[in-house]
Amino acid sequence: MPVLTRLIPSPVVVDIRAGAIDDLATVLADQRISSSTGRLAIAISGGSGAVLRKRLEPQLPRAEWFEVGGGTLDDAIKLAEAIKKGRYDAVVGLGGGKIIDCAKFAAARVGLPLVAVATNLSHDGLCSPVATLDNDAGRGSYGVPNPIAVVIDLDIIREAPVRFVRSGIGDALSNISAIADWELAARERGEDIDGLAAAMARQAGEAVLRHPGGVGDDAFLQVLAEGLVLTGIAMSVSGDSRPASGACHEINHAFDLLFPKRAASHGEQCGLGAAFAMFLRGAREESLYMVEVLRRHGLPVTPEEIGFTVDEFVQVVEFAPQTRPGRYTILEHLNLSTDQIRDAYADYAKAIGS
Ligand SMILES: [Zn+2]
Repeated sequence: MPVLTRLIPSPVVVDIRAGAIDDLATVLADQRISSSTGRLAIAISGGSGAVLRKRLEPQLPRAEWFEVGGGTLDDAIKLAEAIKKGRYDAVVGLGGGKIIDCAKFAAARVGLPLVAVATNLSHDGLCSPVATLDNDAGRGSYGVPNPIAVVIDLDIIREAPVRFVRSGIGDALSNISAIADWELAARERGEDIDGLAAAMARQAGEAVLRHPGGVGDDAFLQVLAEGLVLTGIAMSVSGDSRPASGACHEINHAFDLLFPKRAASHGEQCGLGAAFAMFLRGAREESLYMVEVLRRHGLPVTPEEIGFTVDEFVQVVEFAPQTRPGRYTILEHLNLSTDQIRDAYADYAKAIGS
C-alpha cells in the first residue's frame, strides 16, 4: 500500500504565551535555528521598537539590529541589501505587520530563515507565506517561505493599543465567511476545496467566535493568536489566500482602494464585510451572531461606525468583486445591482437593529 501523506510547510517553533520573548535566545538556540552565539539579523522599527531592543540586547549580545523605515518594497529591499553584508543564521522580524512583512521579504531575498516575533495581533499575516508591501503601483503581495519560528508574547500584545487586537478578531472571524464562499465556489463552479486548509481556517474562526473572553484576558488572546497562526498555515496548505479571504476581503480591499485616506483597519473592514456577506448568503442567524460578537469586542458592524455613509458602503460592495478577479464569492454569485445592494443593506441594518 502506498504511503500517501503530504508535508506541510510550517514553523519549527510556535511559542505563544506571556513572557515568551524573554526566552527568545534559548528557544532559537535549542531548535538550532541560531547557535548560542546568536548570529541574528533583527529587523525592528526605529520608533516603537527601541524599548524592546533595550530589553533584548542583553540576551542577544551578538545580534545586529536593523531599523526598518516602513512597509514598502523599497524598505524591504534596503533591508535585504544591509543584511547581505553580514553573516547570519536567521533574520528576526520584531514588530507589527509592516516590520514582519519587510523582514519576510528580505529573508527570502538573502536565503535565510525568518523568525517572526509579533508585537501585535492585527491580522493573520504573521505566519503566512505572503509579504504585503507598498510599491509604486499601490500594494503588492509577494510569495515568501513561511516563518521558521513564530513567537508571540501575550504581555507585549496586551501593551499594544487595543485596536490592534480588535483588528485581529475581525480578520479571524472573517474566515467563517471566507470558507462559506469557498464552499459556494465548489458547489457552483466545481472549485476544489482543500479540506485540511478549510478545517484549520474554520476552526480558528469558530474558536474566536465562540470564546467567551475579551480583549483584555490571556485565555482569549491565546486563542486569537493561535487562530491567526493556524490561519496563516492554512494559506500555506492551500497555496493561496482562499481559506481566509472571500467576499469579506473583497469588501475590505474595495474600502482601501476607493477611500485610501479614510480606510479603517484591515480587521474592522473584514469583520463588517463578513457579517454583511453572511447576511447576503441567507445565513441570517450566523450573521446576527457574528454581529453580536463583533459588538461585544468593540468592532464596527455598520459603515457609519467607521465613518462611511450607507451610499459609500453600497459603492464599496458594488466595486468589491473587481478587487479580486477570478475569485468566486457570494458577491459574484448574486451579482446585485446598486439598488439591490441598497435594499439588502437596509434589510441587514434592520435585522441588526441599527
Ligand atoms: Zn485578512
